[in-house]
Amino acid sequence: DAPVVIIGAGQAGCQAAVSLRELGHRGPITLIGDEGVLPYQRPPLTKAYLQGDIGIGDLVFRPETYYTEHDISLVLDDPVVSVDRVARRVVLRSGHAVDYENLVLATGSRPRPIPGAHTIRTIGDADFARPEGRVVAVGAGFIGLEYAAVASEAGCDVTVVEAQPRALSRVLSEETAGHVVQVHRRRGVKFLFNACVSEVRPGEVVLADGTVLPADLVVAGIGVVPNVELAVDAGLAVDDGVVVDAWLRTSDPAVFAIGDCARFHHGARQIRLESVQNAVDQASCVAAVIQGSAEPYAQVPWFWSDQYAMKVQIAGVTDGHDNVVVTGDPLTGAFSVFCFASDRLLGVESVNKPVDHVLARRLLAANCPIRPEMVAVPGFDLRTAA
Ligand code: FAD
Repeated sequence: DAPVVIIGAGQAGCQAAVSLRELGHRGPITLIGDEGVLPYQRPPLTKAYLQGDIGIGDLVFRPETYYTEHDISLVLDDPVVSVDRVARRVVLRSGHAVDYENLVLATGSRPRPIPGAHTIRTIGDADFARPEGRVVAVGAGFIGLEYAAVASEAGCDVTVVEAQPRALSRVLSEETAGHVVQVHRRRGVKFLFNACVSEVRPGEVVLADGTVLPADLVVAGIGVVPNVELAVDAGLAVDDGVVVDAWLRTSDPAVFAIGDCARFHHGARQIRLESVQNAVDQASCVAAVIQGSAEPYAQVPWFWSDQYAMKVQIAGVTDGHDNVVVTGDPLTGAFSVFCFASDRLLGVESVNKPVDHVLARRLLAANCPIRPEMVAVPGFDLRTAA
């Protein structure tokens, strides 16, 4: 088989290498990373790792021996600096060059920075942002709220500052997001909505309205930008992510893009997703396509977030909904929110309802024609529907 080069040794890149070998790829595979550690999972960085419950050894996907035993050339701490699509060759910072027949871009994304604030993407970032004293989390998205939960459990005084009128506005319905905020408030976390940070200074955060918040530690979770610079320089189509077709091919058929950095078709829209599911499933798909499969990428997106003892799970992409039906009882802390657009089910958000989540994924995968009035009937049985 022809040589495959994978740029980015994160969730997607590592899985692509593993899947290629599992699918019987016999040619050379080079997995190139720019971090100095074996490929590792990021979700625990704002959860168990930050809490001190697990260490680096628990984060890595595979031991070093896996890569040698499976003849995967793993290059660490040596980023690719250029891609020559005519010669089909990538050049690394060290000057080393590697030839490819198929190239996979799995370069991920990086946090939007706020000068003076910490961000959390890598193990090093988490090590430098152990919660202490008065903590300000900027951004009430998943990263900011997960950080706030760990900090509050560590006994810190926590304030979340959010520019939007509510939390998680990009990713969750008002019903689910409102519940999440209530859970935080019960733990003593303070929220400032419609509040913009104008400056982070040593020991304090200054808001646009002049309010000064004392802060021993400031963590920003205000979204990410995809790492597309290599793709732009190589002349590939890029639009907030490397644009790919249904088989995850870029505008050059020898080059694929997967994970956080890829913009792909989802129904009638083009989206970019930042999730483990997306990285892993796109990696498996790309490996299959390189091995000759004609199956397009068509997995149901799903996501989870752990905060305190609360597990939020999302099946589908609920953004853009105009109607919701709630099942279960939010007062008990266990419920699901079915999100519809023009009576079409977009997705289901579940809080402490893991069975609902699994069934919802099944329902969405089978494209079941579930309508709001069916879900609203008392005694609606998701299991039967799925
Ligand atoms: P990454 O895992 O970021 O890997 C990309 C790699 O490419 C990086 O190591 C990057 O440094 C490297 N790279 C970039 N440019 C180059 C170059 N030129 N040469 C070589 N290497 C390069 N998802 C969930 O589903 N649930 C969660 O609860 C969740 N929690 C998260 C918590 C945190 C703190 C973070 C940061 C993310 C979380 N995510 C979660 C998101 C999930 O981790 C990402 O979506 C996933 O890691 C994306 O995989 P990826 O391979 O596309 O990117």
